[in-house]
Amino acid sequence: MLTFEQARNRVIEEVGKRKGPRATAVISVWDALGLVLAQEVKTDREYPPFDRSTRDGYAVRSKEALPGAQLKCVGEIKAGDIVRDALGLGTCLQIMTGAAVPSGADAVVMIEHTGRNGDVVLFERAAQQGQNIVPKGSEAAAAQTILTPGKRLGYAELALAAQVGAAHLDCALRPRVAILSTGDEVVLVDEAPGEFQIRNSNSVSLAAQVRLAGGEPVVLGNAADRIEDLGEKIERGLKEDALVLSGGVSMGKYDLVESVLKAMGAEFFFDAVAIRPGKPAVFGVCQGKPVFGLPGNPVSTMVTFELFVAPAIDLLSGAEARALPLVEARLGEAMKEKPGLAHFLPARVEWRGAVPEVKALKWQGSGDIAALAKANCFLVVPADRETMEIGESVSILPRKDVI
Ligand code: AMP
Ligand code: MG
Repeated sequence: MLTFEQARNRVIEEVGKRKGPRATAVISVWDALGLVLAQEVKTDREYPPFDRSTRDGYAVRSKEALPGAQLKCVGEIKAGDIVRDALGLGTCLQIMTGAAVPSGADAVVMIEHTGRNGDVVLFERAAQQGQNIVPKGSEAAAAQTILTPGKRLGYAELALAAQVGAAHLDCALRPRVAILSTGDEVVLVDEAPGEFQIRNSNSVSLAAQVRLAGGEPVVLGNAADRIEDLGEKIERGLKEDALVLSGGVSMGKYDLVESVLKAMGAEFFFDAVAIRPGKPAVFGVCQGKPVFGLPGNPVSTMVTFELFVAPAIDLLSGAEARALPLVEARLGEAMKEKPGLAHFLPARVEWRGAVPEVKALKWQGSGDIAALAKANCFLVVPADRETMEIGESVSILPRKDVI
């Protein structure tokens, strides 16, 4: 059986092999958050475009602004002012943050380090050459490539594009991810369940996770545990960029997902992973499309999505697969788990001291959605550990939607 790291790497390897060029669209910078860039973005000029003051203060010749020196202030420069004239010898100019430093000046002295008497400015300490000035072109040259295809657009990247006037960006279309739940007991969320039926919460969590991962969910509803119904709906799902199924992958008599996929020509890369919850997770490729069969217990579905489906969506978006963001924390409570499988337990991490502290939450197992809704992370218990002591260093996987 593969470890979760091996299984995840297998997904990255197989989906990586198959990712082709993505269809793209030109998207306004206002709407491009979370998309993956499909073009280069170059600067339209040097950055900064002029020697820029980073402080409110006085533009000076550093050699003249010695401790105790007095210089006549002959004017002021506001941010946005046109600056053509050089600083005269023996004078200074009041200058604001973001304003252009005049030629001749080689330092800006913070206003806090000066005194003023009418026109005369008194300097308290020695000015260093270049202080509080960002030189023209020091952030980027003109026509320099600052963003490249495959870059995920977060708020800083969007601001960078905006800075250079790239108001519209060619972006990869979000991969369309078909979501199909399975099970005779499953009814639609807005249907009234019979006494022994349950609502389809997995399609809701999966759609949310697909969105968070940068994909576009295509919810196909629920397939009964029957070969024909499964076959038809899987066929439909394979028209999208990837297919995620929930349920029907365990050892039960009516767990038919794997055999139906197999009959449709699927090649499987794993059908079990050494984790709890989520052990029966399946990954294969069917008719050229990545297919994930996630176990139906809701917490299993959520965990296995994060571990195995999220990196595939990165790759299908034209980006690199992001690393699993495991974080080190201090265990806040001793615990005991069955060894043999790595556990991903609903847990709460708090940032009180220097090191985050984590405690597992009480739960009723992988059907307990309420426990996960109280959690802000998963506590990762390695497969070879049976007991863990308070104060031990452990790994957590933050829930990226709530942290
Ligand atoms: P399965 O993996 O098909 O054996 O399903 C395991 C358990 O997960 C079932 O007994 C259901 O209680 C639950 N389950 C399956 N599908 C869903 C779903 N779409 N939404 C919520 N719970 C589900
Ligand atoms: Mg089932």
